[in-house]
Amino acid sequence: MAKKVPILDLNLIHPHETRKRKFVCVECGLSYNLKDYRVLFDNRKISYFVEEAKPQIRICHDCLLSFAAKKKEEMGAPKLYVRLDIGDEEVILNFS
Ligand SMILES: [Zn+2]
Repeated sequence: MAKKVPILDLNLIHPHETRKRKFVCVECGLSYNLKDYRVLFDNRKISYFVEEAKPQIRICHDCLLSFAAKKKEEMGAPKLYVRLDIGDEEVILNFS
């Protein structure tokens, strides 16, 4: 039987909807407060995602790929799907 491919759910932290005040990427340490994040997000410079299963884990868009690669490694899975919930859209990335 084929093994089920694990799915990593990451949700966009929308700066105009969140109540969080500070955003730090677990990978690169990039950090902004809410005010700056709003400006940068609106200018399409940065977006932060949160791991659905571990809401304390936040990750910037630049680090999504390396983060997913690490997760795949950790799980020892040959394949990994990353589901990005970006509000009005859902994107599935396939890592194998
Ligand atoms: Zn980062």
